[in-house]
This record gives sequence, structure tokens and C-alpha cells, in this order.
Amino acid sequence: MSAARTPRRIGVMGGTFDPIHNGHLVAGSEVAHRFDLDEVVFVPTGRPWQKEGVQASDPSRPVSPAEHRYLMTVIATASNPQFTVSRVDVDREGVTYTVDTLRDLRKSYPDDELYFITGADALETILSWHDWEDLFELANFIGVSRPGYELNATHLMEHLAAKPADALQMLEIPALAISSTDCRARAATGRPVWYLVPDGVVQYIAKHGLYRKDPA
Ligand code: ATP
Ligand code: MG
Repeated sequence: MSAARTPRRIGVMGGTFDPIHNGHLVAGSEVAHRFDLDEVVFVPTGRPWQKEGVQASDPSRPVSPAEHRYLMTVIATASNPQFTVSRVDVDREGVTYTVDTLRDLRKSYPDDELYFITGADALETILSWHDWEDLFELANFIGVSRPGYELNATHLMEHLAAKPADALQMLEIPALAISSTDCRARAATGRPVWYLVPDGVVQYIAKHGLYRKDPA
């Protein structure tokens, strides 16, 4: 192994991960390759503010407990030597804001460059994120393509005119039309999630009866 370089380039993949699926993993893997990252840290949210503790697809159902989402993320990423999982959001009290995620990670990686990875759908909403202008001081942003959403940040770029040119970069990644919402709906109705999520996550969902309409 070559000596560690400084600064290292660290990807940050934030998400609710309820459950983590292959779309998330391909995004992390592709950005790691294209941006020559040393590591991609997956960060499951604590209480996600956009979802206000309930599923957007079915407001009568809560987001799964953070510990389940954290463990599924560990299982999904365990075999990739470049992937790690952080508990910063799971362990922080209160609602998760990305700016807090990045401030906490900055403390763990004081000498490194952070690259926050976000799908095209999330990118569309970034101007509404808490302290959004600070986000771009804490990390570079990589917007990745996602089926069903346009990867177009022209509007966002106008707001970023004063920032360095590489503050936000776009990347087309292999298109996987997978969402956690669909995986939950499948698990709820007994349809397969095989090959949409890693095998260990299929088994974890079954073992704990996650997403069933009538949890045991
Ligand atoms: P939900 O349906 O519950 O919103 P999700 O599939 O959108 O779940 P999130 O945890 O909300 O997953 O997403 C975390 C991050 O991963 C976001 O930046 C999102 O845009 C991105 N992402 C999710 N699925 C894909 C995909 N299939 N391709 C590319 N990016 C994705
Ligand atoms: Mg989402």
C-alpha cells in the first residue's frame, strides 16, 4: 500500500437509508472512482427534517429507528474497503441538518477534503437546506444523476457564482431506478427486494419484519 496522501479526499453520502439500496452504493462507488476518493463515508440521518419523522410516501408510517438504518448501512457497505459508516447523525440529539453533519465530519477529518454526494432530487432542494451557504464552505458538492429527475443545476449555479468553480460538480452515474420508498412498499406487500438491496439487507429486513403493515 502506498503512503497515505494529505489531504485525503473523502466522499460523504448522507441519506435516510430506510433501507439503503444499490442506487446509493453505485453512487458512492462511481463518485469514488471518478473523483479519485480515498474513502466514502455513509452517514445515516438521525431524525431527517424533510421527512419530519414520517415516511413521505405514507405519512401514517414513521421512519424506521435509526439503529436499524445504521446497521443496514453497515451490512451493505462492509465488503467495500473504501466504504465506512459514521454515527455522527444517529448519535446527535434532534433533527438532522446536513450542515451539522459536515461540521462534525470536519472535526474527524480536519486535514482532508470533503465531497458531499447528493442525488439529482435532493440537489433540487438544496437552497432550502438549513444554512445552505455554509455548506459550500465545508465541502465540495457532487450532484449525481437519478432516473426520473433532471440533473440540472443552472438555477443553483447562479447562487454559487461567488464560490470556487468546483464547489458543485455534476456526474452521470449508471441509472438504477431504485428508491427506498419502493423497497418499503415491496417489503410491505411481500414483493421481492432481492437485487435492489444487498443480500444481507434483504435478510435483515426479513429478520426484523421491517416495513410490514402489521409489524410482529
Ligand atoms: P426515499 O424514497 O425514502 O426518499 P431514497 O431512495 O430517495 O429514499 P434517500 O435515503 O432519501 O433514498 O437518499 C439518500 C441520497 O441518495 C440522496 O442524495 C438521493 O438523491 C440519493 N439517491 C437515492 N437513490 C438514488 C438512485 N437510485 N440513484 C442516484 N442517487 C440516489
Ligand atoms: Mg429520498
